[in-house]
Amino acid sequence: MNITELGDSIINGDRRALARAITLVESARADHRAQAAALLEHLRKADRQALRIGMSGTPGVGKSTFIESFGMMLIARGLRVAVLAIDPSSARSGGSILGDKTRMDLLSREKNAFIRPSPSQTHLGGVARRTREAVTLCEAAGFDVVLIETVGVGQSETVVAEMSDIFLLLLAPAGGDELQGVKRGIMEMADIILVNKADGDLKATATRTCADYAGALRLLRKRPQDPEGFPKAMTVSALQEIGLETVWDEITTLAAWRMAQNHWAARRADQARFWFQQELRQALLARLETAAAREAMATLGDAVARGELSPASAAQQMLSELSQD
Ligand code: GDP
Repeated sequence: MNITELGDSIINGDRRALARAITLVESARADHRAQAAALLEHLRKADRQALRIGMSGTPGVGKSTFIESFGMMLIARGLRVAVLAIDPSSARSGGSILGDKTRMDLLSREKNAFIRPSPSQTHLGGVARRTREAVTLCEAAGFDVVLIETVGVGQSETVVAEMSDIFLLLLAPAGGDELQGVKRGIMEMADIILVNKADGDLKATATRTCADYAGALRLLRKRPQDPEGFPKAMTVSALQEIGLETVWDEITTLAAWRMAQNHWAARRADQARFWFQQELRQALLARLETAAAREAMATLGDAVARGELSPASAAQQMLSELSQD
């Protein structure tokens, strides 16, 4: 594969090249990893940035409906939109919470939209790396907005927040008791809470829920990266397309403020440092997973169990073996 050609095709907006490149970064094969690294390096020359919007919510809250209508609105404004996903369930079981059902039906037919489902069948760290690299590829391809979706379970929100500029939390209208169900840590990550389904019979409940969350947000510690009024809670109806323009206005207001205050660049720099460290950690751990390393570890483990070696010297021996290959 000619990496320079592939990279240039991506920069020129060739969707098939983009899809092929994402497949490349999703591969765990050592030669593919080397090619992926070369490709990502080559794409730095494009020097393009998209607005990276992370989004989380429990199954059924309306994520795909929201992405569909929000994405279509952005496209109507002349923007190009990429949608990526991190499905933590695929990491564990090979199954999928984000769903195999056809999602975002209208959006998927738009030439200015690009939708890629979550990489699957690996640990969350692996899914995270692949998605983060896919974000970079979409930026190089000239997308204006990259939406990164996840489901509200476990660590996946943190992972998405670490690769987003702005984080949206989608919630359903609910009684006051359920407010407690949203973990404080997740509330603290949110820049904008969207109470969805604010339509029909649910409208009054949604308005009340939104007020409850607005109150809860005010109790959180003020963050230096927020202008007055953020983080905030709003109601929307993804289905009836109510409030979507306002969501976009709030997002762009927040983004502009952070850029002007230099919080934007600082956050991206922190994220880049974080991902470098993650990448290194994962690469080191992967070296323990080779057949030879597993065998050496089993042999040394047996020796430690028999009392022939101390755990410390067995570990030293293992480390020196690893550094030889
Ligand atoms: P996801 O699992 O978070 O992706 O949720 P979906 O987008 O698949 O939506 C789950 C259900 O909620 C579907 O039946 C949607 O039609 C419905 N839904 C989504 N958004 C809205 C909304 O704004 N209002 C109402 N009333 N229903 C909605």
